[in-house]
Amino acid sequence: METIFHKADAEGIALAARLLKEGEIFALPTETVYGIAADARNGKAVAEIFKAKGRPQDNPLIVHIAGMEMLAGLVSEVPERAHLLAAAFWPGPLTMVMPRGPEVAAECCAGLDTVGIRMPSHPVVQAVIRQSGCAFAAPSANLSGKPSPTTAQDVRVDMEGRLPLILDGGPCEVGVESTVISIVGEHPTLLRPGHITLEQLEAALGEEVLVSGAILEKLKDGEVARSPGMKYKHYAPKADITILDGTFAQYKAYVDAHKTAHTACLCFTGEEHRLDVPCVCYGREGDGEDQAKHLFRSLRALDEQGDQTVYARCPGKDGAAMAVYNRLIRAAAFRVIKL
Ligand code: AMP
Ligand code: MG
Repeated sequence: METIFHKADAEGIALAARLLKEGEIFALPTETVYGIAADARNGKAVAEIFKAKGRPQDNPLIVHIAGMEMLAGLVSEVPERAHLLAAAFWPGPLTMVMPRGPEVAAECCAGLDTVGIRMPSHPVVQAVIRQSGCAFAAPSANLSGKPSPTTAQDVRVDMEGRLPLILDGGPCEVGVESTVISIVGEHPTLLRPGHITLEQLEAALGEEVLVSGAILEKLKDGEVARSPGMKYKHYAPKADITILDGTFAQYKAYVDAHKTAHTACLCFTGEEHRLDVPCVCYGREGDGEDQAKHLFRSLRALDEQGDQTVYARCPGKDGAAMAVYNRLIRAAAFRVIKL
């Protein structure tokens, strides 16, 4: 298949809207990461996303809308909490898991009776949905298991020949996938951390939000993931990453003691001048938002350098950094050494 690479301008948006209506898939920028979109009501189109990505069938997709009126038919009920969260964070990088409605293709929900819904703020997404009249299902536009793409070029590396169109809208603002919160049970539960933090969710809801166990630790054998995506190998570059949890001085001492010809560092911005091995920076120390924005590009840069053993600086675990830690421990297959 020939893949057209097109700027996300008026012509590109019109092309994408037409593909959506015709049951085809394509890649587009959002404020979080690049996604692959298909009409959420068209099961055959949605199935093509799984094929293009090599995504396991039991990993559900998020459905994207451009206005509250589009919820009708996609969810069977709009919980009160959805109104509070939408008023605070939509359009934006928040996904709410709600009771599934009759019009969502079964392929989006992986057998669950719930559906994840998000209203993105990215103008290209809003224009494509408005022009086509289609809510679309979309996961990140990477091959399953690889770091999510935050530039159109990174989408091209994974998806060339696998879909008809990639819209180029420049680098993504947020850099990590949306925050996912379930509002179907008795207590709201954070299923995946993102740009919208736990503290912000609790402030908007005026109640405690539980944190799913799989976010900061590996699931135990036999434990069921409430957020199916959490159980898979994820975001992984070819190199073996180990996170070193400690001060910069402890980190440097560990790297110096263990380095070989094939070692590299995934460090904070500015530290590259103080380390004696090849370095990739992933953002400023203590700045979760900056780290989130650069993390996936940095993981891909490690692959481009051909590094084999990578020692990563440890991000924080709360606020905006929770999303970074959550992605990085998966990229590191949960190898964390406390220094
Ligand atoms: P991605 O498309 O890679 O951003 O992944 C979407 C993720 O959102 C999935 O892997 C799940 O973890 C989560 N998700 C989507 N829909 C649901 C749902 N109905 N229930 C629970 N988690 C969901
Ligand atoms: Mg993904």
